[in-house]
Amino acid sequence: MTKAERAQSILEVLARTYPEAHCELVHENPLQLLVATILSAQCTDKRVNLVTPALFARCQTAADYAAISQEELESFVKTTGFFRSKAKNIRAMAADLIAHHGGEVPARMPALVALAGVGRKTANVVLGDAFGVNEGVVVDTHVARLSQRFGFTKQKDPVKIEQELMKIVPRECWAVLSHWLIWYGRRRCYARNPDCANCELQTLCPSAFKFSKQKAG
Ligand code: SF4
Repeated sequence: MTKAERAQSILEVLARTYPEAHCELVHENPLQLLVATILSAQCTDKRVNLVTPALFARCQTAADYAAISQEELESFVKTTGFFRSKAKNIRAMAADLIAHHGGEVPARMPALVALAGVGRKTANVVLGDAFGVNEGVVVDTHVARLSQRFGFTKQKDPVKIEQELMKIVPRECWAVLSHWLIWYGRRRCYARNPDCANCELQTLCPSAFKFSKQKAG
């Protein structure tokens, strides 16, 4: 079986197992998703979802984020970690939106990554989930770990992992692929002691029982 064939079979199982997989950052528009994704760096989606309702009520437009003081914004996002730089980045990003995009979030990769504090991973989240554009694959810690365990890549650098995934996964699956892998990484293929004994992908996965304390049946 080639990598692309294995990828296709794995995708089919993931689609059946988690048809409901979606972005777990709560949001209602591209700006909210962009802010939530910036806040999610080194932080869980659950924690981000605890702070965003009050923040989104206070700041509804890019102008609101550009005008809010650093101190007040920090007070909203304090519990997400690295709150000073996150608040600084959000305010600078909002100022960029106003200066270059009429206060709207652009739906193009080059324009997104040119915004202050926005990298390719954040841009991929926004493009995939707010605009339905399959421009790339979001590579977080779960996507990186599962891609290595499935034998899709030996790379450690997220950008290189993304390039390899894009070669073997059909473009129309790029955005949803990351949701499936993130859901699987959170619910079955844990970093430590993955649940290989109950894994729906056991027969397709070259790493079955390699990282698990369980024994092959
Ligand atoms: S068999 Fe084990 S290592 Fe492979 S995907 Fe399943 S849980 Fe992860």
